Amino acid sequence: MRIDVVTIFPEYLQPLRAALLGRAIERGLIEIGVHDLRDWTHDVHRAVDDAPYGGGPGMVMKPQVWGEALDDVCTERTRLVVPTPAGRPFTQELAHAYAAEEHLVFACGRYEGIDQRVVTDAARRMPVDEISIGDYVLVGGEAAVLVMVEAVVRLLPGVLGNPVSAEQDSFSDGLLEGPSYTRPEVWRELAVPEVLRSGNHALIDRWRRDQALERTYRRRPDLLDKLDEGSLDSRDREV
Ligand code: SAM
Repeated sequence: MRIDVVTIFPEYLQPLRAALLGRAIERGLIEIGVHDLRDWTHDVHRAVDDAPYGGGPGMVMKPQVWGEALDDVCTERTRLVVPTPAGRPFTQELAHAYAAEEHLVFACGRYEGIDQRVVTDAARRMPVDEISIGDYVLVGGEAAVLVMVEAVVRLLPGVLGNPVSAEQDSFSDGLLEGPSYTRPEVWRELAVPEVLRSGNHALIDRWRRDQALERTYRRRPDLLDKLDEGSLDSRDREV
């Protein structure tokens, strides 16, 4: 997979080359390109923004600069992702869909965002998603891109040491994952739940499922509403 990011702050994307993502690059599992949007400006000030039509506060990113940048960076195999708080929510399901793409391009907005015609124009040639990472407003799209790229890359084959851990994560079965424990058995007078030390794998699986159901019910009841009825057994319904 190849990932390109266009931004006015290329240095902000340095963490894409660290830790798990850095190892995935070294091992040839992903290629990452980070591009300075200002390289596509033609004026002495390298301006990327202008006042909004219709008035109002802030500035809007200019379509000409973005248009030329995306013309150069995107190919016929690109899926373009434009982070915006006004987008549809980023989810684990979308992370899986992106992990199946050959080429993702992320367009990082700043100020009041990017002139909407950039999205309209790009959508004439490629799939374009306007995506939000949550119901809050960041200063720019870079932090949102770091979040999305990390969620996507860890799903690629060979990136995680143990692929089963991604299969058992929160959201994979529609639920939050329950609590985890490691040694020592008792820490600050807090003991690891007895069942986890029992060696009885059927009991442990049932306990984990109960914990996941209870935690989801308490913290994210909206996820339970979305669960497929067929995915619940009779014991699940009692929890
Ligand atoms: N005027 C925009 C609005 O109210 O919808 C907010 C623009 S925000 C200050 C600047 C940039 O930060 C956006 O263009 C986007 O790239 C990024 N951004 C801010 N919040 C975000 C979020 N929740 N999810 C994804 N990107 C976000």
